[in-house]
Amino acid sequence: MSEPFITTVVGSMPKPVWLMEQLPLNAEGKQVHGKGADWLYQGDMLETAQDDATRLTIHDQINAGIEVLSDGEQRRSSYLTYITSRLGGFDYETVTKKWTRNKRRLAEVGRCVGPVSRPGFMLKRDAEFMLAETDRPVKITLPGPMTVVDSTADEHYGDEETMAMEVAAVLNEEAKELDALGIAVIQFDEPVFSRYPDKVKDWGIKALDRCLEGVTSAKTAAHVCYSYPMPGVPRPIVDSYPVILEALEDSKIDQLALEFEASRLDPKLLELCPSKTVMFGCIDNGIDEIETPEYVAGKLLAAAKHLPADQIQAAPDCGLVPLSLDIARRKLKAMVDGAKLARERLS
Ligand code: ZN
Repeated sequence: MSEPFITTVVGSMPKPVWLMEQLPLNAEGKQVHGKGADWLYQGDMLETAQDDATRLTIHDQINAGIEVLSDGEQRRSSYLTYITSRLGGFDYETVTKKWTRNKRRLAEVGRCVGPVSRPGFMLKRDAEFMLAETDRPVKITLPGPMTVVDSTADEHYGDEETMAMEVAAVLNEEAKELDALGIAVIQFDEPVFSRYPDKVKDWGIKALDRCLEGVTSAKTAAHVCYSYPMPGVPRPIVDSYPVILEALEDSKIDQLALEFEASRLDPKLLELCPSKTVMFGCIDNGIDEIETPEYVAGKLLAAAKHLPADQIQAAPDCGLVPLSLDIARRKLKAMVDGAKLARERLS
């Protein structure tokens, strides 16, 4: 059992203007699955700057009152390529174009050219740094196997499920090391689940569960959303949650980070996953307007009509990286105040 409406973030936070050039996420030639925006430092200075940006986001999250913290992905130009570009078997020197996200966008992607392997514990320093900087529970994110498959061009396996299971085995090794270090929540980001509900049933859950084998202390989470809002790219909020949530209910995952704000989805959907703890998205990462605590409390209490309140956490829909830092801070504060109000009204 836990407290109702624990507050957390999904993953990314905006980067300070001194750390990275500020570009839309789909800027030409600098797409998220290819190159990404440029850092404003290099080498040791970059690592020092990323360390300080991580300290800043920890401070911002604690200041807002967030209870389960992330590193804001301050070291990542992309939540995905930060991991995939380091794996053996992938080539990011010569990227290619691929229609991703069920034909939503033609993205520049890395190529899978051989068996996927792991070069050791990739997130060791990131995780140790977080644990040394805060006593609060820490969440670390990894891209989920179906999202890795969709966001790269397979020139080796020739079969999506085969590749996903190989990627899952490698992610599982990483997850077990994070678990042993004392990371509280290991989250697999699967935005593409919402695009391919049939594949989720066919092999997506199987691959996700493979990532979790032997993770004993940490809570495991899956994040399913409709991808970051991007200028000029329609955000297809399709009716896929019913199928996905039913499938996820049968998975071994502990927690689901779901989008309920921008999508305006009915919280009744929570009845499809009664055994899961849900990070209930109640903050929109695509608009600058700040949600009010009153509004957030209303959303959380409405959700609690369909799932016990101690299985509901307050979270943004998705990573807050598309926003400015100032807006993101104010949104987190409003969310925490809203969760507090909702707790009071429960009792
Ligand atoms: Zn998301």
